[in-house]
Amino acid sequence: MKAYQVVENGKPLEKREIEKPIPTGKEILIKTVACGVCHSDVHIHEGFFSLGEEAKLPVPLMTDALAMGHEIYGEVVELGEGVSGIEIGKKYVAYPWIGCGNCDECANDREHYCSPLTTKNLGINVDGGYAEYVLVPDSKYLFDAGDTPDEVAGSYACRGLTAYSALKKADLVKGQNTVVIISAGGLGLLSLKIIQAAYSINPIVIDIDDEKLELAKQAGASEVINSRDEKLFEKIAELTDGGATSVIDFVGAAETFELASGMFGMKRGGTYVIVGLIGGETNLQLPMTTLTARTIRGVYVGSLQEMSELMELVRENKIEHVEVEKRNASEANKTLNDLKNGKINGLVCLTHDHE
Ligand SMILES: [Zn+2]
Ligand SMILES: [Zn+2]
Repeated sequence: MKAYQVVENGKPLEKREIEKPIPTGKEILIKTVACGVCHSDVHIHEGFFSLGEEAKLPVPLMTDALAMGHEIYGEVVELGEGVSGIEIGKKYVAYPWIGCGNCDECANDREHYCSPLTTKNLGINVDGGYAEYVLVPDSKYLFDAGDTPDEVAGSYACRGLTAYSALKKADLVKGQNTVVIISAGGLGLLSLKIIQAAYSINPIVIDIDDEKLELAKQAGASEVINSRDEKLFEKIAELTDGGATSVIDFVGAAETFELASGMFGMKRGGTYVIVGLIGGETNLQLPMTTLTARTIRGVYVGSLQEMSELMELVRENKIEHVEVEKRNASEANKTLNDLKNGKINGLVCLTHDHE
């Protein structure tokens, strides 16, 4: 089968012919129908996360060569002898945050917190959807997406799930429209659709890019504000009657974190959830955390249980789908570059030829 693999961090992906896996036991082989290109692919490809200045957190390749792609929507083509309840020919979204299966985290529905040294995350530790076929270790990781369009379905496995998990941790109150979402990029837009479906909230969206803000406005944001606006904090305070109660930061940069570190913009007792991995560093003035009685917390993807809740909303057609651009897998390198350079509005996925 064909696969577009990272062979060396930072170097262009190589198109390679690799062995098509054969499922045994509980394993299932799916043919990649579409695979979302997520911003974390940029970091995995580069091999690090930025910690500010010159500091970098390495994400070394765990294999000789890796087909990335963790937002996989695939059609079942082959089953191991121990698989039941899964139909050949049916399409599923694969939950990619697969753990070792032996640790405490894995035993308590926190597989996504399994140690980075032992996880078997699809498209990160083992080959994912930049390959024509993907081996999924168990049917419990496969989710029916109802009549979701092929190009959209995979996005629920990472960006959708992350957004859903972040919303669950943001102390939201149904109908309370004092929530700020930072980013009108793919993740921001998806979260906008999910927050409307799950919480009937129309948040304020902040971004640096007016074109993206326009998309957010069309997608139902109650207000959009450019983050460069000098009156940003005042405007938020005005729109939210004194400050946001929850801020969800899908960018995660020193500049966006200002909203969490200052007195204004957020109400006392508010929750600031950091999801984005753009990176950097910041000074936290400790009394501000006390005086604002604020919670600052990180969110990393989501659990299998959260995936199951989210996919139920998806199957019930509660979530309005965002537009996803389809590109051929042969454009994987260009797509990673475009994403890195902020040239992609909305979401993008790769499809294979399956000659
Ligand atoms: Zn992702
Ligand atoms: Zn584990």
